[in-house]
Amino acid sequence: MEYISTRNKKQSYSFKEIFLRGLAPDGGLFIPKEIKRLDESKIEKLSQLSYIDLATEIISYFCSPELEKDKLHDLIKKSYKNFLTNDIVKIKKVGDINLIELYHGPTLAFKDIAMQVLGNMYDEFNITSKKKINIIVATSGDTGSAAISAFNDRKNINVFVLHPHNKISNIQRKIMTTIGSNNIYNIALKGSFDDCQNLVKEMFSDNSFREKINMSGVNSINWARIVCQVVYYFFSYFKFQNKKVTYAVPTGNFGDVFAGYVAKKMGLPIEKLVVATNENDILERVINTGLYKPAKVKPSLSPSMDVQISSNFERLLFDVLNEDDKQVSTFMSDLKSKGSFLLNKEQVSIIKKNFSAKKISDKETIEIIKNFSKEHNFVLDPHTATAVGASKLIKDTSEILVLGTAHPYKFLETIKVATSQEVDAPKQIAHLMDKKEKYDILEKKVDKIKNYIIDKIT
Ligand SMILES: *Cc1c(COP(=O)(O)O)cnc(C)c1O
Repeated sequence: MEYISTRNKKQSYSFKEIFLRGLAPDGGLFIPKEIKRLDESKIEKLSQLSYIDLATEIISYFCSPELEKDKLHDLIKKSYKNFLTNDIVKIKKVGDINLIELYHGPTLAFKDIAMQVLGNMYDEFNITSKKKINIIVATSGDTGSAAISAFNDRKNINVFVLHPHNKISNIQRKIMTTIGSNNIYNIALKGSFDDCQNLVKEMFSDNSFREKINMSGVNSINWARIVCQVVYYFFSYFKFQNKKVTYAVPTGNFGDVFAGYVAKKMGLPIEKLVVATNENDILERVINTGLYKPAKVKPSLSPSMDVQISSNFERLLFDVLNEDDKQVSTFMSDLKSKGSFLLNKEQVSIIKKNFSAKKISDKETIEIIKNFSKEHNFVLDPHTATAVGASKLIKDTSEILVLGTAHPYKFLETIKVATSQEVDAPKQIAHLMDKKEKYDILEKKVDKIKNYIIDKIT
């Protein structure tokens, strides 16, 4: 498959190139040149497959011919061997909601599903055989741990993770900082997740620095992650075939829900994608009003959604603007210079055909967790709770599928407030609490971060 940038569709790239680069050289996001609809008989065939076989078909659609199907199949199988469930994801009916639990991987959030595959793709592409690479990743709490688990102790790879200092949960931090491997560096940045993400983007756009350290990225702007997430939309849809299906998705950087949109473009008849946000409601506002205007990030009970610059939205924008790369570039430079851009009515109505958006406050999140626990004896994590809340606000006759993005144990403090209950530590991290943490606190200055990285790798 050929890829282009949302800001320049003249130049095309291979899957391997976009996988390695993460972000396009013009600052845009990579996107397939064309997403072809699968015909009904093909979709019917896919519906018979196991998760691993389905993942092979879907991922292969995006990375052939560079990765052969047989090799890809082995790679995917290897990637999911540490998941504590046979089908990788679990689908449960709880009340009138169908919950898709995506958090049975090694770090208890859906980020593992893509990240474990990415880890093995680096090996498969022989990327590290000649020269050491340095992966720099910004995290709002879960991407970092997933990356650390996927790249821990891999040869010729260092991982630098920037998380916002004191703005993630204790368990989220501990999973990252107790790993103790020599190739993992944790940076607690004095700032927000947006600051972390901006710094990473700034380093990526600095060509000489990027080349000097042989920099690579695995944030959700990396298309390979989206591709792995398309799989569970197909997999779960097939359990409800012949019904109208709506997905409610807890959203921050718009990656996971965009994967649902990709599935829809591939022909999966999804009725609606419900974007659930916390009080960092940039996506709720742009979808309902057309004005994309980031506000200051507020720390919330669902820290992995504390995002105001929702990077993957640019991919939807490109689509909604009929692939007008010039217009995307203009909007993005307006965003930089004026702090916002405005979509017209027609553009908003195109978005609304596919998406609804609802904001759930912290107070509501607590209520949702509390009531859900009382009514169904089931503990939701705060992120998943926003999607459960959002799904109740939608007047829709479809079957509702909620993406469960994290295990509640990761957010113990909040769960205790909401339910006065303890949550048992899942197997994956039972021994975490006794281990020593290691991280460095740094200011949000790009030069300081660059010097830190260079100091560590030389
Ligand atoms: C990352 C994350 C999200 C948001 O996903 P995006 O792809 O950034 O929209 C939601 N919930 C949890 C638990 C997460 O870790």
